[in-house]
Amino acid sequence: MKRKVIVAVGAHPDDIEFGCPVTLLNFKEKGYEIHYIIATNGENGFKVKSLSSKERIDIRKKEQLTAAGKVGVKEIHFLGYKDGFLDYNDNLREKLTLLFKELKPEIVFSFDPANMEFDNINLNHRDHRNIALAVFDAVFAAKNDFIYPDKNGKHRIEKLYFFGTHKPNYEYDITDKLNFKLDVLSSFKSQFPNFENFAKFFKENIGRDSAKYKYAEVFRVVDIVQISY
Ligand SMILES: [Zn+2]
Repeated sequence: MKRKVIVAVGAHPDDIEFGCPVTLLNFKEKGYEIHYIIATNGENGFKVKSLSSKERIDIRKKEQLTAAGKVGVKEIHFLGYKDGFLDYNDNLREKLTLLFKELKPEIVFSFDPANMEFDNINLNHRDHRNIALAVFDAVFAAKNDFIYPDKNGKHRIEKLYFFGTHKPNYEYDITDKLNFKLDVLSSFKSQFPNFENFAKFFKENIGRDSAKYKYAEVFRVVDIVQISY
């Protein structure tokens, strides 16, 4: 049987968990191998000031491993960039491209690079904007032999699932799995000191993006059409 792979890319530990863990679990149950790429260490997203940078990095890495374990993720690729300082540059694009060439995903998940609404300072965070652009461009570079030549050869990804989008064209109903999503998010204890309050806020606000379903994960899905002439 052909190995089927999905790669989900976040700027910080917890981005993928807000965006798409239930959709990923569904793909996992269909037989896909799931990989995560986390660009930054997430060390600057803390409310307590008493911990060192190394302690904060370690905590967020452990939390990310716990969350990914609940979805059955095969491997997390931590890129180790500094939280809050993620630049879109060739170094980031190259790392993503080489991982795409190595892992050969059919589908890639990340933030929507077209969402430039700037109506939400959390969603339109600098690191989210930059990872979204870099992922989009790395998907192109991965299907090219010359931009970043590599022993693994080129690879064509078939679909992009963008979360954090303002133009969704696909809604995945998670109403029956809301508790699973909240359980995955609860792995990030450093982010939600009072998880009950957060869960209430999530149920009343964040999880309600869909007009069709009570709770959904919503995406702008882009088919990458192979052009031949
Ligand atoms: Zn984030």
